[in-house]
Amino acid sequence: MNDTQYLSKKFTFDNSYSRLPERFYERLSPTKVPVPKLIKLNEELALELGLDPEVLKTPIGVEILSGNCIPDGAEPLAMAYAGHQFGNWVPELGDGRALLLGELIGLDGIRRDIQLKGSGPTPFSRMGDGRAVLGPILREYIISEGMNGLGIPTARTLSAALTGEKIMREQLFPGAILTRVAQSHVRVGTFEYFAARKDIEGLGLLADYVIRRHFPDAGKSKNPYSALLYEVAVRQANLIAKWMLFGFIHGVMNTDNMQIAGETIDYGPCAFLDTYQPDMVFSSIDHMGRYAFGNQPKIAQWNLICLGQAMLPLISDDEDSAISQVKEAIGIFSTIYEEKWTSGIIAKLGFVNKIDGDIQIAQDLLHHMAENGADFTLTFRRLCGLSIKSSDSDHHVRDLFGDSKEFDEWIIRWRRRLLIEGLGDPDRKSAMETVNPAFIPRNHLVEEAIRDALNQDFGLFEKLLKVYKEPFKYQPEFKHFMKPPLAHQKVHQTFCGT
Ligand code: AMP
Ligand code: MG
Repeated sequence: MNDTQYLSKKFTFDNSYSRLPERFYERLSPTKVPVPKLIKLNEELALELGLDPEVLKTPIGVEILSGNCIPDGAEPLAMAYAGHQFGNWVPELGDGRALLLGELIGLDGIRRDIQLKGSGPTPFSRMGDGRAVLGPILREYIISEGMNGLGIPTARTLSAALTGEKIMREQLFPGAILTRVAQSHVRVGTFEYFAARKDIEGLGLLADYVIRRHFPDAGKSKNPYSALLYEVAVRQANLIAKWMLFGFIHGVMNTDNMQIAGETIDYGPCAFLDTYQPDMVFSSIDHMGRYAFGNQPKIAQWNLICLGQAMLPLISDDEDSAISQVKEAIGIFSTIYEEKWTSGIIAKLGFVNKIDGDIQIAQDLLHHMAENGADFTLTFRRLCGLSIKSSDSDHHVRDLFGDSKEFDEWIIRWRRRLLIEGLGDPDRKSAMETVNPAFIPRNHLVEEAIRDALNQDFGLFEKLLKVYKEPFKYQPEFKHFMKPPLAHQKVHQTFCGT
């Protein structure tokens, strides 16, 4: 048995998407790269997928993770999809620089896509070169794994590799390839693709596929398609509530970047908030603030309406009935979103059971944070350590608000409210620390790790990956990573990975 055959045995692909009709994708192989070099393998994830990390680190493993070698059983393909980008309809997008290698069923029994990102041009590349560069690949690695550490549903990163090529962007950058692992890459834009072509058969096949793969219970429902829409809306509500509770800004919530299974995908100019600002935008291409932090729940609903619109022909032949079923299904978004956000913010404040006035306390804190430029993550984390009875440590939080009388008034209300709970300081602190992370992938640190990596120093990148695995645990050796950026370290803009 040669190396390739040996390694191929380690991948037991079962490629359900490639069994769909040919018009769902284009089959092609990755473009070979000159000098593949592994930057990092996510060994834990490899094990969860039933892969052997030691084998993946061998030269042949690295050839596979950089697209130079296709393991037996893989059936590489670029998926077709369309989408609304910044509200504008684009009838054909598709994987322009990614290829689905195949699907693996992990040790948890869940089927996942293994996809190479940056693997060369495809028929969907339009003017693009099909490649990715080192900076955005490391950004996706750090942030996606950071999201996973925080418990936010997300596509994962199995590996990052250098290609040995230089790729032209604003200047020449090292080329890189990321192996992305997701519950699937079907997007709102995949449904829009078939709907716009009036390919109702394709639309139905896609919906049935998604029901089988992600929402088997919807299949048992009287109307499986409206049940599917309902389930997608529920998952999105859960997801966006988490984004809002941890201060995550996706940056490009186009319908082609909204995954049906409810994971965060397509990490481009995403970032976490430092200071709490609802109108915060990092993305260099979001001139109108469409995808600002505070707009995300509304945009998710807008995207769900696009999905609902695309699915109308499946839901009923009678248009009025289809529209009312779509509205009803999507309506669940705001109910679940409110529920999840409310229970989440209350837990962040250390309240166990919601009582009248709690939401006002939360809203007032957020308002004072915005007014006074307080750091979102640190405010909540430091609140964990305050005492119910004594205000001696209040300055740890107060300092984040500058000289704020409003904060002084607020903290009195918070303390009064906590007295009702009857939890002692240590118990409340440990409960609060399970929902208020000490560490989030702060922009300035991510940028610094990328700068270092461009100078062949991956030390900070490695450290960040380590610390973000357990973001709720205080890790004293990394306590400097908790700090917000100094004025000169602040990142005001992030750029797309293209
Ligand atoms: P994104 O902004 O990453 O969601 O990408 C939007 C669309 O542009 C998708 O169809 C991508 O496949 C495509 N795309 C992005 N970057 C490139 C690139 N460098 N080469 C080819 N296609 C790309
Ligand atoms: Mg995309």
